[in-house]
Amino acid sequence: MPDYEKHAYDTNNIFAKILRSEFPCHKVYENEHVLAFLDIMPRAPGHTLVIPKAAARNILDVSPDDLAHVAIASQKIARAAMTAFTADGITLQQFSETAGGQVVFHLHVHVMPRHTGIALLPPASRKEDVKVLEDNATRLIAALE
Ligand code: AMP
Repeated sequence: MPDYEKHAYDTNNIFAKILRSEFPCHKVYENEHVLAFLDIMPRAPGHTLVIPKAAARNILDVSPDDLAHVAIASQKIARAAMTAFTADGITLQQFSETAGGQVVFHLHVHVMPRHTGIALLPPASRKEDVKVLEDNATRLIAALE
């Protein structure tokens, strides 16, 4: 058995609950294959997470097709974020398994707008105000249209 198959997908992870609408999120984009929503502890304003709708723990078990849908959506979010946040650049990150820095075990790609000379906050530094998240979601949605 490959190593990655030893870790089963947990259907009760927080992003699975968001996909089932059992938990709220600040949604910015959705299609048949993916959902994108704001990170509640952003490392930069507009920090967005892109996830497949299919059950996938991380980069190790996701199907190539679902990964492709996530990559395509990440590019879409990145381009919109450049406009929405007048960003100078974008950082994408994806963590797999605890040793790789993963905390939530449903595959997600971090899309983080960047500004020259401004460092990312450390992961999980602080929970953002709901109003700020709402405003940032509105800006991103407008740039996606
Ligand atoms: P990681 O698994 O290390 O890639 O990080 C998980 C990310 O999910 C962190 O950046 C958290 O701030 C974020 N996060 C955790 N719970 C939620 C939630 N309910 N809604 C949005 N983002 C979340």
